[in-house]
Amino acid sequence: MKKVIIIGGGVAGFTAGTYLQYNGYETIILEKNAVAGGACIGWERSGCYIDGCIHWLTGVKKGTELNKIWLDTGALNEDTEMFYQDDLMHMYFKDKSLTIWKDLQKLEAELIAFAPEDTKEIKNFVKLVRKFQKINPPAFKPTDLMNLWDLLKIAFTMGGQYYWVVKTSKISCKDYAKRFKNPHIRELIGDFMAPHFNLMSMLYMLGHISADDGGIPVGGSLDMVKRMEERYVSLGGTIRKAVSVTDIIINDNKAEGVVLKNGEKLMADWIISTTPVEHCLNDLLGGKYPDKQFDMRIKNQKDYPIYTFTTAILKCPNRIGNKELSVKLVTDKPITIDREYNQLAYRNYVYDNTLKGSDDFCVVQATIHSDDDMYFWWKQRKEDGTYKQEKKRVADELLAIAKDIHKDVADQIEVIDVVTPCTYERYLNSRHGAFQGFVHTKRGRSLMHSGRIKGLKNFLISGQYTIQSGGLPPATMSGRFAAQRICHDDKKKFIDISKK
Ligand SMILES: Cc1cc2nc3c(=O)[nH]c(=O)nc-3n(C[C@H](O)[C@H](O)[C@H](O)COP(=O)(O)OP(=O)(O)OC[C@H]3O[C@@H](n4cnc5c(N)ncnc54)[C@H](O)[C@@H]3O)c2cc1C
Repeated sequence: MKKVIIIGGGVAGFTAGTYLQYNGYETIILEKNAVAGGACIGWERSGCYIDGCIHWLTGVKKGTELNKIWLDTGALNEDTEMFYQDDLMHMYFKDKSLTIWKDLQKLEAELIAFAPEDTKEIKNFVKLVRKFQKINPPAFKPTDLMNLWDLLKIAFTMGGQYYWVVKTSKISCKDYAKRFKNPHIRELIGDFMAPHFNLMSMLYMLGHISADDGGIPVGGSLDMVKRMEERYVSLGGTIRKAVSVTDIIINDNKAEGVVLKNGEKLMADWIISTTPVEHCLNDLLGGKYPDKQFDMRIKNQKDYPIYTFTTAILKCPNRIGNKELSVKLVTDKPITIDREYNQLAYRNYVYDNTLKGSDDFCVVQATIHSDDDMYFWWKQRKEDGTYKQEKKRVADELLAIAKDIHKDVADQIEVIDVVTPCTYERYLNSRHGAFQGFVHTKRGRSLMHSGRIKGLKNFLISGQYTIQSGGLPPATMSGRFAAQRICHDDKKKFIDISKK
């Protein structure tokens, strides 16, 4: 039986492991943290569960290729209850507010009532979102393994839609927003996603959520990843936690094993790395195997920025729970980190009873989204010794705004945790504290990497960085693709779980 070492026990690692176990391989997942899950995680503080990931999971609609993978890997099962958020976001300006509704008719009506001067553009926008309801990434097989028939099938089913994908990839949300006359609509559309995202990313997300293909599994991120771990282990897979890989053992340009931080060596026929790609290329492979596509992205931060954030996690009395779940606030008291931020996101986790600490309180995450520059600023604070102090300052400022909103219970709201980009760097070895892959900007090229590194045999890169711009669907797809590539190279027919 051939052995495969999988570095990283996140969504990509479990997906690769599950399909490989099913196909007769002996696999081991090596995860640096004591709890598996990677970026798809949750943790406890002060008696509260803090969900660290899923705001929306696409691929929940039955019958889609992506849904099949979620079912195959145990991420979802027939009994998984889903929560569908009707009011995706309430945006509060100084004296007005606007809601992004999941229901597109309601959304169109709300926007037109708010900005009748933009009626034509609003209708065009909603029409565009509708187009993306039917656009699905090909998830059954990687393009490098597709035959002519597969490619024809995609061209036939997706041909017309591809035009819209390409066209809207080359426009940033900010530039697109300029066609609206109303300044608040411009702000809403321009800043709905994090900085630099292209229009396609926003349309894809809104399209899928509005088509009931984007929901949140009840039980949260940690429960989902635990189901994946259980499925993997039930197929005979082994996982070792709290073990960091430091090196790849290579002989004659063939990967043969890994070295752990404690010096232990493990050998295998194949190695898959699902770690953040820069860590893999530079730290694990020592920079000896450059890759054109990844290096171009790593070196060009302007066109390939990352997405990160600073969050203060607030424990609040449950009474604030019947307010909106996702609020974006344009504040006249900006918070300064690497720059002044006047848009703050507050997300209340009260929608899921299983995520609450008790009936008395709920968790609200107050977040400032940003890019590489926010990471560099926090990194500098670590170096000059003011990191803890600055974390407290930013958290206190976010807390003060929350108290101002909920004056009646202000004295009962407290900060229970703070997360910065440095947290993600330390926890995941991620680039600049990123929690997704490279952002898909209007200037950046789209990526579907084969995972193969030129000149290095029996080694594959998988994980969210291989499919722009990351997220749970690319992570799980990349894990399946890695398993398919190994079967292909070993001349084994890939056995698909739900088709057997
Ligand atoms: C706050 C937040 C919200 C998010 N919201 C969403 C959302 O709503 N929808 C969505 O689709 N996605 C969302 N994401 C993104 C999603 O979580 C990720 O895209 C996905 O989990 C990435 O999975 P992965 O397996 O590719 O990578 P990772 O989760 O990063 O897994 C890689 C694993 O490798 C381990 N590792 C790294 N280096 C080593 C080493 N040297 N040795 C051993 N192990 C190592 C890491 O610890 C990690 O567990 C969110 C993420 C965050 C943090």
